[in-house]
Formats: sequence, structure tokens, C-alpha cells
Amino acid sequence: MRELIIEARINEYMRREQGNPHVPYLPGEIVADAIACRTAGAAIVHFHARKPDGSPDHDAETYARTVSAIRRSSDILVHPTLGDVTLEAGPEQRLAHILEMAKDPATGPHLAPADMGSLNLDIYNPQARRFDTLERIYKNSTGTLAYFCETMKRAGVKPYLTCWNVGFTRCAAAFIDLGIVEEPAYMSFILTDNSFLGGHPGTLQGLRAHTDFLPEDRRVVWSVIDYGGNLLRLASAIIAAGGNISIGIGDYTYPEFGQPTNAQLVERVVALARDVGREVATPEEAKAMLGIR
Ligand code: ZN
Repeated sequence: MRELIIEARINEYMRREQGNPHVPYLPGEIVADAIACRTAGAAIVHFHARKPDGSPDHDAETYARTVSAIRRSSDILVHPTLGDVTLEAGPEQRLAHILEMAKDPATGPHLAPADMGSLNLDIYNPQARRFDTLERIYKNSTGTLAYFCETMKRAGVKPYLTCWNVGFTRCAAAFIDLGIVEEPAYMSFILTDNSFLGGHPGTLQGLRAHTDFLPEDRRVVWSVIDYGGNLLRLASAIIAAGGNISIGIGDYTYPEFGQPTNAQLVERVVALARDVGREVATPEEAKAMLGIR
């Protein structure tokens, strides 16, 4: 079995007051966390630029400064987000900072996300028995996704094909078929516990409903995220099945382990991999496995 690729999802838009003071906000904090996660065993770091108060920072300059600082100090593969500007901006604006960074090897990201469909991003609150919001739509038209994947391919950035449900996976398979996405494709299955209803439940059944629809006869490297829940409950099953792990306190604060750092979560995944008998990929190995230039 190939080596396990561990991706650290260090901050998303998680706020420290949601339960974990270790969520990195500023470029220096993100860089330090990326280095610590690499030391612990992560091959990829995924981050969202944030302002000092934790709110989203959409400044292309902040992204460039952060990526170049990570690349100067670590060989970890870098995966910046497109940002939640995504909810209102056009496709060119959403991808602009990635393309700008890709022009210079010092700031070039290795990966960028493409969420392969559209969905509602409203959160249901079962205690209060109501939805917290009602009109948040994460819109990714097929044309927008084709633009993302074709443009990233030209820019030498590997698309991270995020699949919230089976319909997204089918779209990703169609893009491979069209040659818009090159093999090996990198696909990430989203489980959403205690948050959005648009992903699969964070259970073995939810996971299997994703993996049952892995495109046959295609070279796909797949990973799993649990946005809002404890991915470690499923990590051994994922690792044993040949999948990869995308984990971090950006997705879930992991109160069951106190207030862990991202690096401590990565260490837990490494220990599980050892139990299952699977080696952990270095960034260089992950790069080769994913066909990143
Ligand atoms: Zn993200």
C-alpha cells in the first residue's frame, strides 16, 4: 500500500473562542504551525488567511507573504484556500491570488481547492431546533469548475477535488474523463458532523457511501475530511482502506483531547498509521504520488 499522505487543515474560519486557543490566525502563526505539523508528519498544509481578530483576510499580498514564508522554512506542500469570498465573487476573482502566486516559484502553491458542485451552507441547530442561517449558497457552476481546473492545470497547480457528496464525485470523474483533470486525481471526501448538512454523516456508512463511488479504472488518490467532527474515530478504517487523512483544528476543536494543537493531531494520525502498518509520506513522496510538478 502506498504511503499515507497527512494534510493538516490548520485553521479554516474556526475562531479561538469556539474552544481551541491554538487556531493560527496571522501569517507568522500559520508558518509556525506549518513547520510544527511537518515535523509531526504532515506532508501538506491547508490554510485560510485571517486578520488579527480572526476574520477572513482576502488580501492576495497576505497569501503570498504566508506561502513564501512557509516555502522558505519548510518543504511541506502548500494548499491555500480560495477563501469565503467564494460566496459572492466571480470565478476570476476567486482564483486571482492563486494565479498571482503561481507566477513565482517562491510563492507558487502546490495545491488549490475545487469544490466539485454547489450546496447550501446553512447549519441546523438541533438544540434550538432551527437553522442558524437560511440563504447561504455555495455556488460552483460547472463552467466555473472547468475554468478553475483548466486554469490551475496551465498554472501548474494541482486541483484538490473536494467532494461533499456523490454528485460531486461524479462531476470530478467527468472532468477526469474530459482530460480537464489529470491523473492521478486528488479527491477529498467530506464528512460533516455537527455542521453543514451537505456532506455525508461522519460514520462508516457515510464514508462508504463516498468510497463506493470512487471512479473505477481511474487513478485517484483520495483523502477524507470531517468538518465538524472527530475524524480519528474513522482514521484507522480510512488508513487501512488505502485512503489519506486531512485533519486539523480548523475543522473541529477536538475537545475530547483537551485543546490539542494541529501538530498533536498529526502525531495521533502517525501513531494510528503505525498500528495499521502503513508508512507516512514525506512531502517529496506525496508530490510524486499526486503528480505535482
Ligand atoms: Zn479550507
